[in-house]
Amino acid sequence: MGLGKNDRERINVKEYVEQARTILVYGEYDVIVVGGGVAGVAAAIAAARNGASTLIIERFGYLGGTATASLMANINAFRNQVKPDGLQTSRGIAEELMVAMHKIRGLGEATSYAQEEYDIEQGELSYSYPIDVEKFKFVTLKTVHEAGAEILFHTYFSDVIMEDNIIKGIIVENKSGRSAIMGKVIVDASGDADVAYRAGAPFWHVQKDEAPRLVDCLMYRVTGFPTGERLPQSGPVAGHIMNVWGPAAEPINGADARELTQAEIDTRLKLYDHFEDVKKQRPYLKDAQIVDTGPLIGVRQTRFVEGEYQLQVEDVLSGRQFDDVIALCSSPIIHYYGYRRYLEHEGYDIPYRCLVPQKIDHLLVTGRCMSSDQPSYESWRAMAPIMSLGEAAGAAAALCVEDQTTPRALNVKKLQQRLKEQGAELGQSRS
Ligand SMILES: Cc1cc2nc3c(=O)[nH]c(=O)nc-3n(C[C@H](O)[C@H](O)[C@H](O)COP(=O)(O)OP(=O)(O)OC[C@H]3O[C@@H](n4cnc5c(N)ncnc54)[C@H](O)[C@@H]3O)c2cc1C
Repeated sequence: MGLGKNDRERINVKEYVEQARTILVYGEYDVIVVGGGVAGVAAAIAAARNGASTLIIERFGYLGGTATASLMANINAFRNQVKPDGLQTSRGIAEELMVAMHKIRGLGEATSYAQEEYDIEQGELSYSYPIDVEKFKFVTLKTVHEAGAEILFHTYFSDVIMEDNIIKGIIVENKSGRSAIMGKVIVDASGDADVAYRAGAPFWHVQKDEAPRLVDCLMYRVTGFPTGERLPQSGPVAGHIMNVWGPAAEPINGADARELTQAEIDTRLKLYDHFEDVKKQRPYLKDAQIVDTGPLIGVRQTRFVEGEYQLQVEDVLSGRQFDDVIALCSSPIIHYYGYRRYLEHEGYDIPYRCLVPQKIDHLLVTGRCMSSDQPSYESWRAMAPIMSLGEAAGAAAALCVEDQTTPRALNVKKLQQRLKEQGAELGQSRS
C-alpha cells in the first residue's frame, strides 16, 4: 500500500516508487498489539495473561494514548452517569487499573461531571474519575509489563505484511531502522485504524466539513490555584494540577499528517490567549500557570472500520442485548442532535462482531475506531468501555492462537466464558 486516498486527491501530488529491499525480522509473536492507548493497554494485558506471546508497539515512550499523551484526564463511564446507574458496566482490567491508581493516590479529587459517588473501597466504581496522568503512565506500564507482554516504544507502525486477505505481520520504523514483525493475530488499537486501513479493510470517515462530529482540542495542565475545595466549572483535578479543555481545532482529518500538523499549529498558537479567557471565567485561576501540554492534540475520531456488525444508535438507546456480547456501556451520547443524551437503562451490549473487520483475516480492531455509527460512537468512546473493548480483543486474539482459528471463526461462547472468569461484566450482574 502506498499513498492514502487523501494524499492522492491533493493537487500536484507527485509519486515516488519505493524500491523493494530486504529488512530484518524483529521477532515473531502470537499477538501483536498496535497502539498503546487504553484499548491497546487492556488488549496487551489480556492477551499476555491468556498465554499468548504478546508484543505491544507504541509511537510514544509511554502508554495511555489520549489519556496521557493528550492529557485527557477524566476516565468516564464505569456506569450510567444518571439513574438507573445500579450496574457497573466496566469491570475486569478497567476496574483493576482504577483500583491500582487509587492505591497510589492517583485518582483526583474533582471530576468535571455531576454523578452519584460509589465507594471504590467496596468494589463499586463511580461514573467518572479524574486521574493523575503521570501516575497513569506508571500504572499502565507496570501492569502491561507484569502481565508479561513485551513492549516496543518509539516505534511507528507503517505497513502490513499480507498474504491475500490474511495479515501475517507488520512493518515498523524506529531508531533501529525499518523492520518486519510477524504475528498470528494483529490487534489494531491505533485509534485511527491504521492497520486495518493499510490492510485494505473497508472503513468510513466523517469528512472534515461534515456535521455532526466531535471536535478535537489541545488539553493543557495548570497549577497554582487554591486546592482542597470544590471549584466551580473546574476540569479534572489531581493534587495541585488541573486539566483544562484547551483551544478547539477547526474540523480536521486527524489521520492526515498535514491537517494534523495544521491543527497543532493553530491550537498551540492560541494556547495563552485561551488561558487568559479561562481565567476571566474562573477567577480562582488568576495566579495559575500553564505547566504543560501533551505531545499530541486530543484527536477524538478519524477512521471507523466496517466490521461484521456496525453498532447502531437504536442499539444504544434501546439497551439492546446481543448473543455475542463482549462489553457493556451506559455512557451518554455526548452530542446527540446537539445535547447530551443520557440513557434510560443500565447498559447496552457491544457485540464481538464489531471488533472483526470485513474482508481481512487474523485482524481485530478495537478502541475508538471500532465498527459503529456516529451517535453510538459518542456513547462508547469513553475510556472505561474502551478498556473493556481492548480486554475483549486481547483475550479473543489469544484464544484464536490457542484454538488455531481466526477471529471470524472464533467460538464466542468460549471467549465470553473466559472474559467472565477473568472478571469482565457481560451482563451477568443485570438485575
Ligand atoms: C478532546 C477529547 C476529550 C475527551 N473527553 C473524554 C472524557 O472526558 N472522558 C473519557 O472517558 N473519554 C474522553 N475522550 C475519549 C477518549 O479519550 C478516547 O476515546 C480514548 O482515549 C481512545 O482510546 P484508544 O486506546 O482507542 O485510542 P488512543 O488513545 O488514540 O490510542 C491509540 C494509541 O496508538 C498509538 N498509535 C497511533 N498510531 C500509531 C502508529 N502508526 N504506530 C504506533 N503507535 C500508534 C498512539 O500513540 C496511541 O497511544 C476524549 C477524547 C478527546 C480527544
